[in-house]
Amino acid sequence: MSKTLALTEELIALSSVTPEDKGCQSRLIELLAPLGFVCETIESDGVTNLWARKGTAQPLLVFAGHTDVVPTGPLEQWTSPPFVPTQRDGKLYGRGAADMKTSIAAMVVAAEEFVHAHPDHKGSIGFLITSDEEGPATDGTVIVCNALKARGEQLDYCVVGEPTSSDVLGDTIKNGRRGSMSGKLTVKGIQGHIAYPQLARNPIHQCAPALAELVAEKWDDGNQYYLPTSWQVSNIHGGAGASNVIPGNVVIDFNFRFCTASTVEGLQKRVHAILDKHGLEYDLKWSISGHPFLTPKGTLSDAMSDAIKSETGVTTELSTTGGTSDGRFIAQICPQVVEFGPPNGSIHKIDEHIEVRFIDPLKNIYRRTMENLLL
Ligand SMILES: [Zn+2]
Repeated sequence: MSKTLALTEELIALSSVTPEDKGCQSRLIELLAPLGFVCETIESDGVTNLWARKGTAQPLLVFAGHTDVVPTGPLEQWTSPPFVPTQRDGKLYGRGAADMKTSIAAMVVAAEEFVHAHPDHKGSIGFLITSDEEGPATDGTVIVCNALKARGEQLDYCVVGEPTSSDVLGDTIKNGRRGSMSGKLTVKGIQGHIAYPQLARNPIHQCAPALAELVAEKWDDGNQYYLPTSWQVSNIHGGAGASNVIPGNVVIDFNFRFCTASTVEGLQKRVHAILDKHGLEYDLKWSISGHPFLTPKGTLSDAMSDAIKSETGVTTELSTTGGTSDGRFIAQICPQVVEFGPPNGSIHKIDEHIEVRFIDPLKNIYRRTMENLLL
């Protein structure tokens, strides 16, 4: 049996729903320590993180990922129990099979093969593993990145094992992610009887033209790597529930998914300018859950694309689509960050799975990437 498959099954059997690690990382330490990795567990508010490094020389190539998984959803809808790894029709089923216990197993086995074959490789290899990626992500990768930064540890390349492929293994590498910024806008009016509008001020009527303008606004054109920035309203709450009351305020939640063609300050300024232009009395609270990051085509993406091509024959595409990932924290301390992993069609779903035929090639792609960068 493939060692990567066996380790994937072991990890799936540990029911590590965020922020639990359930012993996944101690299993990884058992495998990494004998290879010469210095392993350090960093705990924070119920979250378990692992920083492991073999070697002290540069360049430092880091593999990053998470041992936590999202909740299962209704158990009775699963064809086989989510924490009992089960093979059917060439697929391995279980929570975390695609996101991202196979990647973790593949990275560790790849490191083992690489270190055994090339004990005198150049540079260093690191592992940055967290149990808080699927949750609030406040005590996970960001904590480790801050600790590494504080002690002056220099990262050169980072591969995040998120499931980025779409149809077949290798078709997509993510070389960046858009940023995410939310706003909670409260437009203030004056509550009153709907029959006496002259004694009230209707905040719904007042904000409607401003919203129309925000919807129509073209924030940027995107760039070579990114689609244009998008602005979307997620919730509007206004009204007292009665048909004869003009409400006193309306609350609008919106979100920007923004690219590197715009800045946080620039977008905020433009929103305020539109609201001010319409003479609204309002309060606006911003929250930023991630800045965009981008690794232009270069040493790391070439090393990975080449590894994919050699292993699978697939010509890979660089993409920046999808939600945020822990890559956003790592990019603050590492100049080149890419994400690569198995197809993501079943992630977070009932009956999550990975095709067994992709498991060893995934491991080989990670190993070939090490060969391309550290030999
Ligand atoms: Zn994930």
